[in-house]
Amino acid sequence: MKALALLSGGLDSILATKLILDQGIEVVAVNFNLPFVVEKEDYAGEVAKRFGIPLVMVEAGEEYLDMVRNPKYGYGSGMNPCIDCHIYMLREAKRIAKEVSAEFIFTGDVLDERPMSQHRKALELEEKEAGLEKMILRPLSAKLLPETIPEREGWIDRSKLLDIKGRSRKPQIALARKFGMHDAYPSPAGGCLLTYKEFASKVRDLFEHKEKVTKRDVSLLKIGRHFRFAASKIIVGRNEEENKLLLGLKNPEDYVFEVQGYGSPITILEGEKSKEAIELAAKLTARYSDASAGAEEGGVLVEVKYEGEEQMQVKSVIVPPSDENEVARVRI
Ligand code: SF4
Repeated sequence: MKALALLSGGLDSILATKLILDQGIEVVAVNFNLPFVVEKEDYAGEVAKRFGIPLVMVEAGEEYLDMVRNPKYGYGSGMNPCIDCHIYMLREAKRIAKEVSAEFIFTGDVLDERPMSQHRKALELEEKEAGLEKMILRPLSAKLLPETIPEREGWIDRSKLLDIKGRSRKPQIALARKFGMHDAYPSPAGGCLLTYKEFASKVRDLFEHKEKVTKRDVSLLKIGRHFRFAASKIIVGRNEEENKLLLGLKNPEDYVFEVQGYGSPITILEGEKSKEAIELAAKLTARYSDASAGAEEGGVLVEVKYEGEEQMQVKSVIVPPSDENEVARVRI
C-alpha cells in the first residue's frame, strides 16, 4: 500500500507523515513551490530525507497565478485564496498520486486550525472540487471527520488516527515530543505573503494593471518600495542587494534611475514613460538617496541620471526630492 503525503515541512504535515509511516504504509511526499510563500530553507527536503521517503517537487507557475487573480471561492484576510489554493494542490496531488501509483492522499490538515480553509465544510469542498471525495485522509483529525475510503477498506487503522482540532498547537507539540522530534523542526510556516495587507495591495495593483502576470512580476513584488502613477509603475530599491536584484529583473524597455556621486537607490520605471512619470521616478530616487539631506527644509535640488533601452543615451533631470505627501499619494 502506498500513500502520497502533502508535505509542507511544517509540524502538522510531519506528524501526519509519521502516523502513516508507523502504520507500515509506504509514503511518497509532494511539496509545492508556491510563488508567494517565502521559505529560507528547504524544510520539506530535510524532512523527506530524515524519513527516507521520496519527494516530488511541484513548481506552481502561471496557472497558479491565474487562480490567485480569479479565485472561485474568494480571498481570506488579504489576497490569500486559501480554498482555491488547497484545491490547486489537491488536483496536482491527484495527478502525481496516479504517476507514483499511490492509492490515497493524506495531508497535515487540522480541523478548524485555519479559519478559511480548514473548517469541515471547506475540507469537504476542497476534496470534492479536486475529484477526490473520501480519498483524502487527514490523520491528525481523522476521528472527527467522516470515514474515508482508506479507513473503510482497512488500508489504514482508524483507531490509531487522532482527533486534534482547533488553533492551539499544544497537542501537536506534545505529539512531537512523544515522537522525539520536538526541536528538530520549525514551527508551522506562516510565510504566505498574500496574507499580509501591504503585500496584498501590491498584488491587487499588479492584477489591475497587467493582464498577464508572470513569475518575474511576482519576484519584483517582493523587493523595493512600489509606487503607482497612472499607467506607470516605479520601484525603488531599499538596499544594495535589492538594487542588484532590480537590475537583474528589469525588462529591456524599463528605465533605470540613479543619483550619481551619492549613496543612491536603483529605481525602475515600468509601463508608460511620460514626462511626469520620469520626473516622479527621479524625485523618488532623489528622496531615498543621500543627496536629499536637508530636503525637508526645501531648496534642495538633485540631479538624477536615467537610461532606458540600449540605444538611448543617458539623460538626467534636476528635481527636488519627493516629500512625504507625494510619497503617501503614490505609494502602493
Ligand atoms: S495561506 Fe497562502 S499558501 Fe497557504 S493556503 Fe492560503 S493562499 Fe495557499
